[in-house]
Amino acid sequence: MESAGTSSRDQVVAVVGGGLVGALNACFFARRGFQVKVFESREDIRNAEIVRGRSINLALSHRGRQALSRVGMEEKIVSKGIPMHARMIHSLSGKQSPIPYGKKGQYILSVDRANLNKALLTEAESYPNAKINFDHKLEDWSTDTGLMTFLRPDGSKESLKADLIVGCDGAFSTLRKQFLRLSRFNYSQTYIPHGYLELTMPPLAGEFAMKPNFLHIWPRNTFMMIALPNLDKTFTCTLFMPFDVFEKITSGDQVIDFFQTYFPDAIPLIGVDALKRDYFRLPAQAMVSVKCSPYHINDKCVLMGDAAHAVVPFYGQGMNAGFEDCIVFDEIMDQYNEDFSAVLPEYTRVRVPDDHTIADLAMYNYVEMRAHVNSKWFRFRKNLDNILHFLLPKTIVTFTRIRYHEALQRWHWQNKVINRGLLVCAAGTVLGGSYLLINKTPKISNIPMEKIWDRLLLLKVWQ
Ligand code: FAD
Repeated sequence: MESAGTSSRDQVVAVVGGGLVGALNACFFARRGFQVKVFESREDIRNAEIVRGRSINLALSHRGRQALSRVGMEEKIVSKGIPMHARMIHSLSGKQSPIPYGKKGQYILSVDRANLNKALLTEAESYPNAKINFDHKLEDWSTDTGLMTFLRPDGSKESLKADLIVGCDGAFSTLRKQFLRLSRFNYSQTYIPHGYLELTMPPLAGEFAMKPNFLHIWPRNTFMMIALPNLDKTFTCTLFMPFDVFEKITSGDQVIDFFQTYFPDAIPLIGVDALKRDYFRLPAQAMVSVKCSPYHINDKCVLMGDAAHAVVPFYGQGMNAGFEDCIVFDEIMDQYNEDFSAVLPEYTRVRVPDDHTIADLAMYNYVEMRAHVNSKWFRFRKNLDNILHFLLPKTIVTFTRIRYHEALQRWHWQNKVINRGLLVCAAGTVLGGSYLLINKTPKISNIPMEKIWDRLLLLKVWQ
């Protein structure tokens, strides 16, 4: 094996996992001239009949687009995405109200996961110095020697060493297992009580059954449904509910009763028969949040994407954050002249606080999307946030590359400012009201005491 200092042309970078982040990362490393070898446990999804995976479509936003643009893939992917300018909130009565994401003209894109993954694999393969090895499941590797062992579908094994091993093997990373044995490696994983299940809303008379340029949301407190548009004019609806609610629904008629109670406007759009059938097609899937630190071992191995930070999907940032990992690593490679012994610790130092923040924000949005979007207070605050957007953008997470942890700090500051502003308004109203009560009414003693309390209490709730 080559030692540090050999030209990148000869150094071997093994990318474990040919999913979204692994395939993109292969392009980043191949552009630098490394000998890139991707190892993916699945068969080539470009030839597979059924692609097993997580969500069918994903929200691609600024960070992800920036990463794609660095490898010349942005336009190709954006041209196959559907812009979503706002969330469309569906009330129980079927009323629909839009809540924009950011400033006018800003939008996120609904993209097809499988197409995105296929396009990235094809792009990676277009580099003569990159090779993708499908049907290679990493079984084990040594932190001392860097020797990796792969299991092939016929039961045989293959071994390989590389100068750098990049772990992009997802939330249940095999590579990460070795990190757990090391001293001072921090790791936590949390399963939320909710699972998710996907349903398809077909086109209606050849057109989208709902307005296409929105991320549709049916918030129902402890559970909710969202729908993202697809190029074939279908919507993919994702139902998020606690597992125990999923388990209580055991027959087609119960599914319809349930939808009649909570999502009545969706029944004719999905179709009664399709609902009864598709609800039971696959069991509900679990969602996990993973945080760990450090992301590297010596100059040998680094984790990126879900392998480093699986987040719950409620900020639409999991893939975007994983794609941004690739940019951050690439920038540090420039700063440290591709010296892995300096690049890897710096990557951990820079990236851990940001990835941990997006994991926390996603968990916060898990609560916000389910419950708050229903409340008048949330909608009032959201409108206020949107008015103040050009000054104090919370949406910087979605529409800029400002570091996640800085976005959080700004958001805390914004909340403080808004809450104080509202407090001042409320205090002004109380003082003004009291003045009017005292001066403009014949005698305060003529007003029943409980009425004064009622008014003061109303002001308190408004805060
Ligand atoms: P993965 O996509 O999991 O890819 C890992 C790859 O590694 C796979 O191809 C796997 O086969 C391979 N692999 C695994 N083990 C091995 C092994 N031992 N050896 C070799 N290969 C292996 N993110 C967004 O940005 N926007 C969204 O709107 C969004 N929506 C989501 C909705 C849902 C319901 C879920 C669950 C997630 C969503 N995400 C979203 C998150 C996004 O799916 C992930 O962050 C993204 O897939 C991470 O990519 P990855 O390449 O790191 O991991």
